Amino acid sequence: MACGVVCSGLMYTPFTRFLNATTLGSTNERVYNETCNRLSTIISNEAKASKERAIQNSLAGSGASGITMETDACFSAFRNAKRSITFGLCNETHTVLADKVKSTNHDDSSVQRHETIATKEILNDFKQEGIKVRCIVHDSNNSVSKVVKDDFPEVKEQKDVWHVIKNVMSSFKKISKGTKKTENICWHGQLFDKYDGIKNHIWYSIMHSGNDETLLRDSLDAIVSHYQGYHESCRLTSHCVRNPRYAPSRVLLTDPIAIDLLSKFVHDTSIYKNPHLVLEGLSTSYVEAANNALRSFLPKRHSFGDTSFQVRVDLFILHWNENVNRPFKRAVVPQNEGTPRENSGRKYQSKKTFQYLEKIWISYLEA
Ligand SMILES: [Zn+2]
Repeated sequence: MACGVVCSGLMYTPFTRFLNATTLGSTNERVYNETCNRLSTIISNEAKASKERAIQNSLAGSGASGITMETDACFSAFRNAKRSITFGLCNETHTVLADKVKSTNHDDSSVQRHETIATKEILNDFKQEGIKVRCIVHDSNNSVSKVVKDDFPEVKEQKDVWHVIKNVMSSFKKISKGTKKTENICWHGQLFDKYDGIKNHIWYSIMHSGNDETLLRDSLDAIVSHYQGYHESCRLTSHCVRNPRYAPSRVLLTDPIAIDLLSKFVHDTSIYKNPHLVLEGLSTSYVEAANNALRSFLPKRHSFGDTSFQVRVDLFILHWNENVNRPFKRAVVPQNEGTPRENSGRKYQSKKTFQYLEKIWISYLEA
């Protein structure tokens, strides 16, 4: 019973309340804690094995070039977080390859620095074990960026496209609205309706640049002429080129000030300046999803001891790696055929499996 409670990731207090309410029996916190301690080694070994299997699969899938890894850190609690966890996920298989728990007591007093330290350690571990990392994706963390550049020049770096575009578009807001006083100086009325259009254009440009910096820059340049009504440099697949009766849905740029502001905006974006950092169009969405899913094992409002914290992280890894790639069906809408984004539909995933629990239980009985 205690083994089951520990492995389920249930908190002890809700469990006792459940027992009381259902009159299923009583429990003993000492037994629970002892079981947790005894299980910690077993669970940690299982998690290690799971990460190793994940690494082997990633290596097999990525060939000689090496693994593409996405990393992100999350804090253990809302405020005054004592610990942080940094995960390294394979960008292709989405399984957890590595994790580092850092605490303000043993490692660095600032949780903000934990991600950098942990990422460095993960890359170092891989290097020592001879595991080749081709590329690392992170969410535009500058100090991680610096570590990769300085210490791991052989590892390619990519920034999460979603974060990059979010940052870029926040500076677009400054030229599309403002006060009366600064109108036509810092911002222009003709740009007010172009936020979504430009955002989509940037997405499309990155996703279809085919690893070519010039192509990406040209595609970004086309934004300015497109909104002036010139479509010579627009993509052949876009509406304005394909449809002979195309009529722009947004206000045409006629004022040189507006044209100038938009062109300056495009050339000042980090994407235009450093196209190589987003060229592959990779994202950290899975590692962020993992950080959210971790919450069911590590609720934010609780504090944990070092052992039970690590047990919970290990259980999460086992659970995630077993279930992240489980098959799913999509509810496809036939009318939307050929339009990838709208067509994604609702995901219906198959049931989660819990084989890892069985393995832990067997090892527990053998011990
Ligand atoms: Zn066009």
